[in-house]
Amino acid sequence: MNIEQRAAGLRQEILASDLRERVCFDFQKALPQLRGTSLYKLFSRMPKGRLMHAHIEATFDAHYALSLAFGCPEVYVFLKPETDGYRYLQLAHKAWFSGPVPEGWTPLPEAMAADPLLKEKIFAAVTSNIENIDADIWPKFEAIFDRYKAINNYKPFFVKLYTRVFTQMAEEGLLGVDFRYISQDQFDADGRQLERDEYVDLVKQIESEVQKTYPYFKVRLIYCYYKGVPAETVPDRLEYARHLVEKYPGTVIAYDMVGEEDCGKDLGYYAQVLKDAPVPIIMHAGESIDPENRNVEYAMDLGISRVGHGMNLYNFPTQVQRAKEKHLMLEVCPLSNQLLGYVPDLRKHPAAGYIKNGLNVTINSDDCAIFDTAYITDDLLAAYLCWDLSMADIKRCLLNSLEGDPALIALFESQWAAFENSL
Ligand SMILES: [Zn+2]
Repeated sequence: MNIEQRAAGLRQEILASDLRERVCFDFQKALPQLRGTSLYKLFSRMPKGRLMHAHIEATFDAHYALSLAFGCPEVYVFLKPETDGYRYLQLAHKAWFSGPVPEGWTPLPEAMAADPLLKEKIFAAVTSNIENIDADIWPKFEAIFDRYKAINNYKPFFVKLYTRVFTQMAEEGLLGVDFRYISQDQFDADGRQLERDEYVDLVKQIESEVQKTYPYFKVRLIYCYYKGVPAETVPDRLEYARHLVEKYPGTVIAYDMVGEEDCGKDLGYYAQVLKDAPVPIIMHAGESIDPENRNVEYAMDLGISRVGHGMNLYNFPTQVQRAKEKHLMLEVCPLSNQLLGYVPDLRKHPAAGYIKNGLNVTINSDDCAIFDTAYITDDLLAAYLCWDLSMADIKRCLLNSLEGDPALIALFESQWAAFENSL
């Protein structure tokens, strides 16, 4: 039996079972059962190409990140209502505070002793699910980044966390990852704030360690800032991006702007400053179902060849053809789109049509720590189960992530042949 027949048969078993409803409408809740299926095992073993859309601040194993925090006597938790820039159930290593620990923060071991349910409450506060979707989903989503930042920016945790992330990604079958990152204030055990460039140095050090076992595994960074900032502040950011791209060639590759698209400034507002950017631009655009959101069109006008999401392209039929001609890469993130409320029924995700229409689609996980999903396997499986794709379609999406690199394509093809032979 070839791979198409095998996978299609296994898919049919799942879709004929009582899992069907959850697979379509709440994939995250279907996962515990899906992980026991033969199709999940098949997708786990599959070579994966590169992960093209992931935010480093929200791409790790949430259970492991919290185990680091829970096991450290110097971690504090904020137990007061949101105030002074702190979030309820925010975590912080004490080195994060410059000076005495402020009021409202309790040593985590003490707080856990007083509340046996605290671990579960913290896990719920740093992950997101279908029940969280309402008009405030984006503020709630962004609050999670704050709850984590004084944990994963603590250098000793960062090193452990991302050594594990890169290793697990390679084990999951990825050849590498393109991480969006916002240069956040990293700090060391003595409270010293790291210089901005040290963030990249640290990522490269961790990558080198992991390459001792997985020599092909490559980490690239896309330096990001927030959508919604005044346009006149962007040139400074672009200048810093230029510095990074020149200092770390092949590692820092581009500039992007992040945040909820439907409430901030659109790309048209930034067109003038981005037009003359001294670095390549890769941009979040079309993470929306709003027919008035024209960010994908603006992105193509700017000559951008790769966009985060591109979901609402279907609203602009002439732009679909243009995207095809320009070979515009759409970094599609199915489970993120469902868990942020854009696509309640995964079967209606427009990327199914984009793939069948021959557009340059890659499949990605966006923020797997927050969604408690795998680095890429769960999103690939969601696409296969809900979009009536063939395994050849899935393979093409994975090949798209290699951007025509002959060496990577040769490596991937040999991995894929071994995978098929092992079935
Ligand atoms: Zn994103």
